[in-house]
Amino acid sequence: MRDGFTILQRENLLQRLSSAHYDLLIIGGGITGAGIALDAASRGLKTALVEKSDFASGTSSRSTKLIHGGLRYLKQFEIALVREVGHERAVVHGLAPHLVVSEKMLLPIIKDGTFGKIMTSVGLVIYDVLAGVEKEDQRKMLDKKETLEAEPLLPEDKIEGGGLYSEYRTDDSRLTIEVMKTAHNFGADCLNYVEVEDFVYQDDMVKGAFCRDTLSDRRFEIRSQYVVCAAGPWVDDLREKNSSRSGKYLHLTKGVHIVVPHSRFPVKQSVYFDVPDGRMVFAIPRGKVTYVGTTDTNFEGDKNNVRTNLEDVQYLVEGVNFIFPSVNLAVGDVISSWAGVRPLIHEEGKSASEISRKDEVFESETGLISIAGGKLTGYRKMAQKVVDLLAERFEENQNRRLKNCHTDETVFTGGEFRNAKEVKQYRKSVANKLLELGIDEAEAKYLVSNYGKQTDQILEEYNSIDDPDPAIRLAKAELWFTMQFEMVCLPLDFFVRRTGRLYFDIESVKKLKNPILASFADYLGWGQSKVDQEGAKVDEALQLASNFR
Ligand code: FAD
Repeated sequence: MRDGFTILQRENLLQRLSSAHYDLLIIGGGITGAGIALDAASRGLKTALVEKSDFASGTSSRSTKLIHGGLRYLKQFEIALVREVGHERAVVHGLAPHLVVSEKMLLPIIKDGTFGKIMTSVGLVIYDVLAGVEKEDQRKMLDKKETLEAEPLLPEDKIEGGGLYSEYRTDDSRLTIEVMKTAHNFGADCLNYVEVEDFVYQDDMVKGAFCRDTLSDRRFEIRSQYVVCAAGPWVDDLREKNSSRSGKYLHLTKGVHIVVPHSRFPVKQSVYFDVPDGRMVFAIPRGKVTYVGTTDTNFEGDKNNVRTNLEDVQYLVEGVNFIFPSVNLAVGDVISSWAGVRPLIHEEGKSASEISRKDEVFESETGLISIAGGKLTGYRKMAQKVVDLLAERFEENQNRRLKNCHTDETVFTGGEFRNAKEVKQYRKSVANKLLELGIDEAEAKYLVSNYGKQTDQILEEYNSIDDPDPAIRLAKAELWFTMQFEMVCLPLDFFVRRTGRLYFDIESVKKLKNPILASFADYLGWGQSKVDQEGAKVDEALQLASNFR
């Protein structure tokens, strides 16, 4: 592993970014930017990437966290999209089988629902064919009795049957960080908390960016042959700065997920179900919780401050109660939530839910290449599309030939497993080690799906940490790992995007807040006022995730 992906080397990295001349500068550290950085660096380009906040802090930590074949696009007859994302999910599963995990999804058939029996059966067959689903994973139609056995919370009087089909679940921000780390290993210089404020021009062409280190408020310049804007919902803001926001533009829609204790909504498995307005929503069990989403409403507010409001929560709670009346969920049951915006390409006359999820590349007269739209699932193909375009430019203008794309066989950091069976064996060995350490073996699932083989390094560090409470000791070992190898700079990077604790184990954030802040103070020499300031940000995040107006 190439070292240096740590806040402890931040000064060196800033120095390098401001003095080197890059082939490519990428703006935006979500999954799209990370994917482009990996593709470009692994094809031999000297690559830099900057992210104005933390990696994955934009849309790429706020999705439904599915690597999916997009069943709903079939309903909209987006055949090519279903085929492409269907193929891609199998590729991404192969690259990180611990992090992209096969998950059966139940589609209950109800009277007057979105899909009737025949539509479900035929639709799922077409979906399996387009998405290239392996024979043993292909759809299975269930009768009423089998559907109720699969999910006993469904109402007997409404259910007519069901379909079981294949999806993959993941953790979007973990996926982004592992792709980013892999790009770093190929030599890309990727840094969070660096904002692009404007472009550098030479002979009227974009040749770099004026940047601000938002942690120290210092300004500097990055010089690069080409600049790609992968800023998700902020793409048009940067096109505006480049005076090239013309033609197609973004249409932002907000999507909210709510989290409830699994004991309050104890689904046995993931379900994709109808809600009263004709849309469909997922309920996904994950460890101690079940999460439900998503909404899809037009968004014109502050992109840096997207919030879950009471109306969003009520919509999802009512949706659950519509199909699972016995659950009788209430707004007060919601313990956490997240809200994000989709950077879609505007289509005249279409509503939020109807707009295509296709991606598009824009190239300005001054040479700025921007990419928007798309899905988490399709990030690798989006990256290939951009780097193929750059390869053409390098060949035309610099007479330089790049290697072909090979990210379909570039395993991510931590993903060194041949298949899901090996992940299972490894998880078992981790569970045994945890038992010896006096830690609940259920933590093995969390550790292995988050960190893959890198769990070994965390458990090794565990032995050198001194704390009487095993849970605090383990969290401190995780902090050590994410600070040394995953560019954690602030406590919320750790609690939200490296560990997902704010969403999936919010109580643990309350317990771990002070010990983790103390570790930050030790590692980074923080004084009390900095500790208080960062502690207040954690309190605010706890508040926003679970209090709605
Ligand atoms: P982002 O993740 O937003 O990254 C852009 C980054 O650019 C941001 O981090 C931002 O801080 C940075 N940036 C902006 N301006 C600047 C600047 N001036 N300088 C430096 N950095 C800057 N897809 C799926 O495949 N499966 C799903 O289950 C799924 N569910 C979804 C559910 C919801 C509710 C939403 C909203 C989306 C969902 N998606 C899903 C879509 C998917 O999440 C997005 O397509 C994807 O995350 C977009 O990634 P991105 O990198 O393009 O944008």
